Amino acid sequence: MKQFVQAFKEAGGWLFTSSSPPSKSETVPITSYDSHLNTSSNTPFNPNPELQEHLYGREWLLEELPFNLEIIQEHIAAGCVTLSPAICIDNKRPCCVRCGNVTPYLFSSYDCARCMKRCHYCRQCLTMGVVKQCSSLVTWTGPPPIIPSYEDETLCRWKGTLSDAQADASHSLLKAVRDSKDFLIWAVCGAGKTEVLFQAIEKLLANGKRTAIATPRTDVVIELLPRLQKAFPSVPISALYGGSTERIPGAPFVIATTHQLLRFKAYFDAIIIDEVDAFPFHHDPMLLYAVKKALKPSSPTIYLTATPTGELKKRFLSHRLNGVKIPRRYHGHPLPVPKSVWAGNWRKQIKNGRLSKTFLDWLKERVELQRPIFIFVPSVEVLRQLTRLLNEYVKAGAASVHAEDPERHQKVADFRKGTIRILVTTTILERGVTVPFADAAVFGADDHVFNESALVQISGRIGRDSRDPGGDIIFFHFGVTLEMVKARTHIMDMNKEGGV
Ligand SMILES: [Zn+2]
Ligand SMILES: [Zn+2]
Repeated sequence: MKQFVQAFKEAGGWLFTSSSPPSKSETVPITSYDSHLNTSSNTPFNPNPELQEHLYGREWLLEELPFNLEIIQEHIAAGCVTLSPAICIDNKRPCCVRCGNVTPYLFSSYDCARCMKRCHYCRQCLTMGVVKQCSSLVTWTGPPPIIPSYEDETLCRWKGTLSDAQADASHSLLKAVRDSKDFLIWAVCGAGKTEVLFQAIEKLLANGKRTAIATPRTDVVIELLPRLQKAFPSVPISALYGGSTERIPGAPFVIATTHQLLRFKAYFDAIIIDEVDAFPFHHDPMLLYAVKKALKPSSPTIYLTATPTGELKKRFLSHRLNGVKIPRRYHGHPLPVPKSVWAGNWRKQIKNGRLSKTFLDWLKERVELQRPIFIFVPSVEVLRQLTRLLNEYVKAGAASVHAEDPERHQKVADFRKGTIRILVTTTILERGVTVPFADAAVFGADDHVFNESALVQISGRIGRDSRDPGGDIIFFHFGVTLEMVKARTHIMDMNKEGGV
């Protein structure tokens, strides 16, 4: 023990010496990444189950661990726990091992009080706690914990029936998972892609495999969790997003935002990425790094989307990526095709406190029909101006939501219940949120934020319920854009391919 503590004293890391919350007086400096010190006795080593569960398949900063120094030292000596530098220097350039950041301007350095040197830290993953050049990452390298076997149980209690297209997709996915092959499910909005996953998830869990559904958006995690809990009532499901309360340590089934995957290392036997093309996933190499790191080697990634990115589409069409296309909604009705309606110079109008007649007429008609109305706008500024005007012009009462709105989840719930009739939103709600009997308008559809994929996703909010498969989707604009034309063509092509 003395040797260990002495070794650590020289390096400048910090380690908690009790399981109570960290305080500076309880920390001991660390120095060595040598995690394979020999133990003197030959007695078999029994890993501490709590430490094992806490560390297995995870990657924590040493200072984040709520375990005392002796326990960690014993496990390091027995080869069950490994420490490694959190920031590597490669060719004089820092690289963050936790988030994969290698971009020089996303690092800063300062005179560090811990290591008493000029110390780099990573700015890319700063929101998860600072990673410094003198920080250590801790991982479990001992035997894996035993996870419950569900082999003799019927895990999936979903009682619905799959459409033929869903059943085919489900079967192909099951095969891909068995063969550990990556797979794409390219399904129109409302195809019922979550249900397509059930059979494969059941198989994975029954075989004691850890499975994750990752999505770029918190709203999607919140929407998916109750559905999956209902479908798999006997399986512990952990929901991970900023501020989530349903975290279950060691759960075999995890639904998480893609950022949360950064805390895992070689934990999952399969990761399903929902809405793979959604901002910010496909522009952000950190999140691709997170998925790769969280997966065990040679484990499959399953991509789900209605609007694959160019790269994914290319891999699929050239047969480099296995997959299926589901061009038809589960209820068999066609996707509503958006109409474009000229609304004049909408920017100028709202600045002057006016709204175009075409937009107002449509809105009043839908309000009279008592239908919930989504209005998508290009920016928070337009959102504020438009919501104020709507509350002047239309008596139904409009509320607004955007990404930074603290009441966002409550407002979406109220909209679903019908206590909010008109919901003005930025593109934050373009996916995941479904409200039956709703209509939608894109206000300012010619704005550059509305690309083909966003417009297809927004149109996909409508007509998802078999009791109301139609519904209006209108693009109000000041000049048709190429993206609007592409979105409309995309939807019509899918309808043609689906034979509807
Ligand atoms: Zn980082
Ligand atoms: Zn330092």
